Amino acid sequence: MQNKIRAKKKFGQNFLQDQSVIERIINAFNPQKGDEIYEIGPGHAALTEHLVEYTDNLNLIEIDNDLVPKLQEKFTGKNNVTIHHQDALLLKIPNNNTRIIGNLPYNISTPLLISFLYQSSKIKDMVFMLQKEVVKRICAPAGIKAYGRLSVMLQYAFECEELFIVPPEAFYPRPKIDSQIIRLTSRETTAEVDLLAMEALVKQAFGQRRKTIKNNLKKIVSEQQLIELGIDPKARPETLTVEHYINITNYIGSAGGSHANE
Ligand code: SAM
Repeated sequence: MQNKIRAKKKFGQNFLQDQSVIERIINAFNPQKGDEIYEIGPGHAALTEHLVEYTDNLNLIEIDNDLVPKLQEKFTGKNNVTIHHQDALLLKIPNNNTRIIGNLPYNISTPLLISFLYQSSKIKDMVFMLQKEVVKRICAPAGIKAYGRLSVMLQYAFECEELFIVPPEAFYPRPKIDSQIIRLTSRETTAEVDLLAMEALVKQAFGQRRKTIKNNLKKIVSEQQLIELGIDPKARPETLTVEHYINITNYIGSAGGSHANE
């Protein structure tokens, strides 16, 4: 039946059709009755049909004009479901402790993750399907090649956990790459930081990965200041920990640096 479905590339549509994968995702998310849940891109409701059984408050965020009426029809009379016909990139999470799930459209996954990063104080946890390579980048520890801007920014706000890999055969149409499930859980004890300032700093720091941190940040901090922060000025950007980046951001902020209050 799923094979008759027309998939729109512009919306990153690859629909899940493997029931065992769907169940594993639901189990990993573990929805509970009292939860306030947002599902990004419900599509043909592969995950939604399970979620709706477990929760009192399920919000569906779908952009596709053709899919929204189908979802409305499918969930008519279900008063635990609210359908929002909107772009997930514009979602403003209203309440604390929100839980988010989604087989994300890969074409917008990075900006979507950054949008949720800025709303992390409202988020309890998120379980997403992403391209495997993106999951590896998010979860990479300092010191390895995959560690970069996305790792630093997301690891600052979330505990990032790689879960299982999902092969192309689980979808219609089949994507060209492997996918992977990731769990992101908000960190409660994260040090305060100006996120915009940290994002700008990290962008600069990883601008040229082969150069030293001193070189990449020369317009922002001096060699001496890096030393004071316990950072080797000759280190490459991928060897600095998330904490180092937090410390540099806060140092610049307290010194009245230009990026501190953008
Ligand atoms: N959840 C379904 C599944 O697993 O089979 C569909 C997943 S499909 C990879 C991505 C879904 O996100 C599609 O339904 C697509 O229309 C929707 N989508 C794409 N861009 C979106 C956006 N900016 N905001 C909200 N939904 C979007």
